[in-house]
Amino acid sequence: MTATIPNFIDGELVPSRSARTSPVYNPATGEQSGTLGLATTQEVQSAVAAARKAFPAWANTTPLRRARILNRFLRILEDRIDELAAVITAEHGKVLSDAKGEIQRGMEVVEFATAAPQLLKGEITENVGTRVDSHSLRQPLGVVAGITPFNFPAMVPMWMFPVALASGNTFVLKPSERDPSASLTLARWLKEAGLPDGVFNVVHGDKEAVDAILTDPDIVAVSFVGSTPIARYIYETATRHGKRCQALGGAKNHMIVMPDADMDQAVDALMGAAYGSAGERCMAISVAVPIGETTADRLIEKLAPKVRALNIGPGTDPEAEMGPLVTKQHLDKVHSYINAGVEEGAKLIVDGRDFRRQGYEKGYFLGGTLFDRVTTDMKIYREEIFGPVLAVARAKSYDEAADMINKHEFGNGTAIFTRDGDAAREFAHQIQVGMIGINVPIPVPMAFHSFGGWKASLFGDHHMHGPEGVRFYTKLKTITTRWPTGIRAGAEFVMPTMS
Ligand code: NAD
Repeated sequence: MTATIPNFIDGELVPSRSARTSPVYNPATGEQSGTLGLATTQEVQSAVAAARKAFPAWANTTPLRRARILNRFLRILEDRIDELAAVITAEHGKVLSDAKGEIQRGMEVVEFATAAPQLLKGEITENVGTRVDSHSLRQPLGVVAGITPFNFPAMVPMWMFPVALASGNTFVLKPSERDPSASLTLARWLKEAGLPDGVFNVVHGDKEAVDAILTDPDIVAVSFVGSTPIARYIYETATRHGKRCQALGGAKNHMIVMPDADMDQAVDALMGAAYGSAGERCMAISVAVPIGETTADRLIEKLAPKVRALNIGPGTDPEAEMGPLVTKQHLDKVHSYINAGVEEGAKLIVDGRDFRRQGYEKGYFLGGTLFDRVTTDMKIYREEIFGPVLAVARAKSYDEAADMINKHEFGNGTAIFTRDGDAAREFAHQIQVGMIGINVPIPVPMAFHSFGGWKASLFGDHHMHGPEGVRFYTKLKTITTRWPTGIRAGAEFVMPTMS
């Protein structure tokens, strides 16, 4: 018997009535742990109806009161972080410490959103004309939706809903069908913190549920995070249906290692950035670009033994540095990329394909894998693998490395390791990527800045959370005011000169 995972609609856990279901697995054991009903269009519509009903009262709740609820939610998250981390690890597979890390990053967005009264302050200009004043304010949009990926089942929804709710919107979340339970824990805790019923709803599902969201006339904005082909589809479909949309896609993040870099620091940074969370991070470094043959040889020499020594095990093992991949299907996909790399002539320095963990033979484990002499025409260079596979692509010069990055389809994150301030400044200035690290391998902006890539890593105009998040979830209104003593006699037929 496996648990049946419900939706969360209008403040209640509601069992799905869908005839279509999807299994949920524990990736460490390969055993099915749950069954998920894939929401029908009608189920999505009932969540949207609940959010629509809740909107007027929530929009008129003062920002301070909204912030107080988020403050209580924050305290619950702090007190029960271990419980939520266990829920994440059981379905995603990442190690518990990393699951706590993602909750922590999500909590920072909640903290940011608790400043709602400050964030929603408008602007005023006295005397835009004689005795005429103008002020602007930001108002909520209405019912908004979030569609999220498997790799951060708590953090990515928390990139979205704290800012959306703080701004006065109501929310429908469609999480990944591969690890759906964390979103229900968040929904229950929001209710416990005092969030009124209907303000936050969760519907589980696949393309049918997503399409119901994209075409529902009562949903006014859609935030998406996932792979690039789906991000493009979401952006095109949502905007065609008149919705505001931000759709974040995939990545292929490069890290340049300059000849003057501290090699031990660079290697440690690469280990965490390439293999943490089994490489299933949109900000993972998947390509290392050492400059010059000597730098490359030193890098491989130091990196290879560390990759071989990675401690891989179930996410619940406190010694494990990396857990399994999320599903058997994804494991097979990453295997096929490694096979393709070998066939295309890249040099396989460490091969993780035969890794087995005793007692977990049915888990979706893959050992850390390292390729050298990867070239830009290879599939393993061009495409996102999303696994513990690091490609070393040697470059002769800084210019060649920068050119590789600038020509790549994706532009999510990138880093340079160097002691040379000029090189670092030039890199930050001219590289065509949204998030840049200088001796920082995973330059994820904090909650009070905004997160987002360039090129095929983001479709839309706004990045997530921070000031861009507030702009995305609000609409601007500007009011121009004149009182009787400021009104001049008679009709005016020309543009006012405001003299
Ligand atoms: P995915 O694109 O398969 O799924 C994302 C969401 O889209 C899920 O909710 C899923 O149910 C839905 N979906 C899947 N197929 C669909 C279809 N045909 N039509 C409509 N909806 C569909 O992504 P994933 O495998 O869950 O997550 C990994 C991907 O997400 C990677 O490409 C990774 O780089 C990306 N990601 C990007 C960022 C970022 O900030 N740019 C952050 C995290 C993850």
